[in-house]
Amino acid sequence: MVSTDTVSIVTGAASGIGAGIAEVLSSEGATVVVADVDEETAGETAADLPGEAMAVGVDVADRESTASLAETVVDEYGRIDVLCANAGIYPSASLEEVTVEEWDEVNDVNAKGAFLSVQACLPQMKSQDYGRIVLTSSITGPMVGYPGWTHYAASKAAMLGFMRTAAMEVADTDITINAVLPGNIRTGGLDDLGEEYLERMRQSIPKGELGDPEDVGHAVAFLASEKAGYITGTTLVVDGGQTLPESQLALEEI
Ligand code: NAD
Repeated sequence: MVSTDTVSIVTGAASGIGAGIAEVLSSEGATVVVADVDEETAGETAADLPGEAMAVGVDVADRESTASLAETVVDEYGRIDVLCANAGIYPSASLEEVTVEEWDEVNDVNAKGAFLSVQACLPQMKSQDYGRIVLTSSITGPMVGYPGWTHYAASKAAMLGFMRTAAMEVADTDITINAVLPGNIRTGGLDDLGEEYLERMRQSIPKGELGDPEDVGHAVAFLASEKAGYITGTTLVVDGGQTLPESQLALEEI
């Protein structure tokens, strides 16, 4: 559980998993900055949160924009205790068809976006000698593969390589950097993949259901808590057991 009055930034928080993280942190008493490229929806999400919240427009792939986000939060609240670098995109394209532009866009938002968000918040966290950073990676890339997502999988694995070395660089402070690896979580982005995809995905998850954004939110809230200070550079899988079965046969034995 995060401490009350914790100042938290959640990127990509207008909708989906980010909104779920924002909801959990806010209900635990944190002040939440809903940071998203979709400023209008971010404003609506912030207004619906139970606690103190504000919306800030940000494009995480742009250095000036992430710098301005950190500055706005410090001006408004004087601290940054928690950063959830969650914003991400996952358009599908086969390896033969994916263009350099598509590859760059996905890696810019997902991997570079996490790097820029962390870099922008780090000076304030260092000056406080306190910070909890949680990246939203994925099971796709770090643990498993899925045709059509080579660019996405590469970006999500890159986030973990970045995280491990960044965690070492700040290990002499009370700043930690960890990552959550969601499986299939019911969000607008995932709904766009269609009902057939969702149904077949349900059948491949031992828990029998897709996750809710709040399921990821609770895992993030733990890693973002003061008490998780001895945990750094590691990952927490939130996938309903999706990566557990050693084969289709094993799944059918349940
Ligand atoms: P979503 O599309 O529902 O929400 C993503 C949010 O990020 C949106 O509000 C969008 O406006 C925002 N965003 C997009 N580009 C941005 C940018 N450049 N700067 C700032 N904000 C931006 O997606 P989601 O399913 O909630 O995914 C959120 C994160 O979780 C992503 O990093 C995704 O890769 C990861 N993830 C999702 C799932 C899943 O099943 N939904 C599984 C594994 C990992």
